[in-house]
Amino acid sequence: MIKQYLLAPGPTPIPNEVALAMAETMIHHRTPQFAKIFLEVRDGLRELFATKNDVIVLASSGTGAMEAAVTNLLSPGEKVLVVNGGKFGERWLEISKAFGLDPIDLKVEWGKPVAVEAIEQKLKEHRDVQAVMVQASETSTTTWHPIDKIARVTKGGPLLIVDGVTAVGVKKVPMDEWGVDAFVTGSQKAMMLPPGLGFVALSDRAWARAAQAKLPKFYFNLNLERKNQQKGASAFTPAVSLVFGLRASLELMRKEGLDRVYARHERLASATRAAATALGMKLLAPESPSPAATGIWTPPGMDADAMLDFFREKMLITFAEGQDQLRGKAIRIAHVGYMGAFDVVTAIAALEMGLRKFGAEVKFGQGVAAAQEVLMETLV
Ligand SMILES: *Cc1c(COP(=O)(O)O)cnc(C)c1O
Repeated sequence: MIKQYLLAPGPTPIPNEVALAMAETMIHHRTPQFAKIFLEVRDGLRELFATKNDVIVLASSGTGAMEAAVTNLLSPGEKVLVVNGGKFGERWLEISKAFGLDPIDLKVEWGKPVAVEAIEQKLKEHRDVQAVMVQASETSTTTWHPIDKIARVTKGGPLLIVDGVTAVGVKKVPMDEWGVDAFVTGSQKAMMLPPGLGFVALSDRAWARAAQAKLPKFYFNLNLERKNQQKGASAFTPAVSLVFGLRASLELMRKEGLDRVYARHERLASATRAAATALGMKLLAPESPSPAATGIWTPPGMDADAMLDFFREKMLITFAEGQDQLRGKAIRIAHVGYMGAFDVVTAIAALEMGLRKFGAEVKFGQGVAAAQEVLMETLV
């Protein structure tokens, strides 16, 4: 067996069109040639983020874009409210602490969406909260938080800073329409690119705040970047090859149509959930699942990590592990980015074999059939 299957929520597989674009001859970044490409990419990003404002491109992973949103919008000692329902919620908390903010830790049970009333309550108790930080898709628990409802609460109040790393390009989050103030993503998930680009889009009121925010920053200076990027340049050397790839990936999304991209993610997610359920397994986030990846509890007593090793070593399939409290108890199957119906079929067929290998009674085809029923709906 030589073919590898990358079915984890980042990095994700790269389409040939993108890989070939990234192999193009290197060019200098301060040239009309690069500016033309970069300006084209900026238009595509605005469409993808559903914003009239600038989407700033950074050479960093997604966490760098998260940090940029924090340091460019806030000042030392300011109070922020962090929705903490998983590893990435914890990251907002860690970034806030690292920069001397005063974060309120709103703990949410892993696998549950945040209750909007809990946010409202905290904001009533702490009238000086300057920003609410949340994930749209909490990848570690495969949960979707209700950004539209949260945005109604923060309207006219604290800034709403959203980690959209497995949300942008997965599910529609019209940031201008809903009132998201900072929307962040990275390249290696739904953007179908290698790791290495971070993206930050800000609302009008966030840009106004950025002009006054006093947290220290140097490399991630969004105002400086905006001035440069509006001219098709960037403050420092951009990740030129990744920008070539980005142009190709945006073109692929435009060709498919964003609505179809979102519908595809919903369909693959729904097929994966149907299959897991048909196999008698429980979902990590049954109430509000993310369309980017599906977290599944392994049967009690079955070592999920050993099973993941088996998938990777014997079948060359990489799924993702459960982290922290989920360690050894859950697996996550991704269906984000460059993925189609038969990635799900492959994943579920492998899952059935893994379950049997580790002692569960499995009738081969039971999960696959449930997935096929969902996938078939679009073909008739
Ligand atoms: C992947 C991911 C990130 C970014 O992680 P990096 O490793 O820094 O790219 C942030 N938030 C979420 C929800 C993610 O899935």
